[in-house]
Amino acid sequence: MDNRRCLTGLIRDVPDWPTAGVVFKDITPLLADPAGFNAAVVELTRLAPAEVDVVVGMEARGFIFGAPVAMALGAGFVPVRKPGKLPREVVEQEFALEYGTDRLTMHADALQPGARVLIVDDILATGGTVAATAALVQALDAEVVGVAVLMELAFLGARQRLAEQGIDIDPVLV
Ligand code: 5GP
Repeated sequence: MDNRRCLTGLIRDVPDWPTAGVVFKDITPLLADPAGFNAAVVELTRLAPAEVDVVVGMEARGFIFGAPVAMALGAGFVPVRKPGKLPREVVEQEFALEYGTDRLTMHADALQPGARVLIVDDILATGGTVAATAALVQALDAEVVGVAVLMELAFLGARQRLAEQGIDIDPVLV
């Protein structure tokens, strides 16, 4: 079986979670499957452009995939975290949720100016998390050279919206 079909079968739809009407993509069966987890990391790594200096992953599932992708690429890993988690000076970015706003932070000295950054996460939904992370990278004068996600929820249209802002996203699965 090819990697993509194997991965799709390991992502479970959970209806009405976390709220009524939402179908949550549960990736925990994929993480628990040795071949599936390996295939996910291999496919995400394949999406990387040349010469990535740093992989940036967002709390929390971006850590799970971002760290092994960074190791496969010979790149460093920088975590993007929710407010109040990082101990030193941070840059911070607010973004819209369906109701209200949220914020993400990154250490202010985490990236060198001009560093070539690959952003890695599990699911692309509305695109708010990726857009906020890209803004943090750009605030430190580093360059987003790619965004690799395991799955895009295509009906939400985030990939097209972000492409119009100059952020090109490659999903393993749609
Ligand atoms: P967005 O900001 O694109 O609306 O949401 C993407 C972020 O929320 C990602 O960091 C992802 O981990 C999480 N997320 C949103 N929807 C889902 C989902 O259905 N399944 C999983 N595993 N994560 C989701």
